[in-house]
Amino acid sequence: MDIQNIFIRNKNWVADKTKQDPDFFKNLSSDQAPKILYIGCSDSRVAAEELMGVGPGDIFVHRNIANMVSALDLSCMSVINYAVNHLKVNRVIVCGHYNCGGVRAAMIPEDLGLLNPWLRNIRDVYRLHKNELDSIDSEQKKYERLIELNVQEQCINVIKTADVQRAYLSRGLTVHGWIFNIHTGYLVDLNIDFKAILNGIREIYHLENPL
Ligand SMILES: [Zn+2]
Repeated sequence: MDIQNIFIRNKNWVADKTKQDPDFFKNLSSDQAPKILYIGCSDSRVAAEELMGVGPGDIFVHRNIANMVSALDLSCMSVINYAVNHLKVNRVIVCGHYNCGGVRAAMIPEDLGLLNPWLRNIRDVYRLHKNELDSIDSEQKKYERLIELNVQEQCINVIKTADVQRAYLSRGLTVHGWIFNIHTGYLVDLNIDFKAILNGIREIYHLENPL
């Protein structure tokens, strides 16, 4: 794509939005009040707002390779902190997708240089669920299951944070794991049992303090 075309497309977009609503940019610039934090993959095919049918101002977004939530990732932790404590979102969504290159790379036992520490988090998910994954004969099904389990584990990582636990107790914030089925375009809810996970891990990751 010619980069100059992007500026032409941008002008057309501004014209379209202003035609639909003359106050669109006045309202957009006033403030943001999204109620959803979306954590997804950087993959160019997974267009977060577009696939959810939402527009500017509707969701707070964090994206990285394979939608990871690492306690050592200052960027991701800051996004969660800001979204939960300041924007007061009441839903956190971790959304993975089939055909995820990051998960595929993690399944190949190969030295990938700078990517190694990042992919190690996904390899850890494999290790945690090795029995289940090794029992799947089809490589494609195993790949898809690891993508789902990775979303589940990243949801658990979100739930481990003190900010999320406090917001759950004070206003009922919940965490959701989704998959974008890139073959069909549909979102699939993995129906992760937020309460059961929280109860299960509280003994170890019990972080909430009185407000
Ligand atoms: Zn991906």
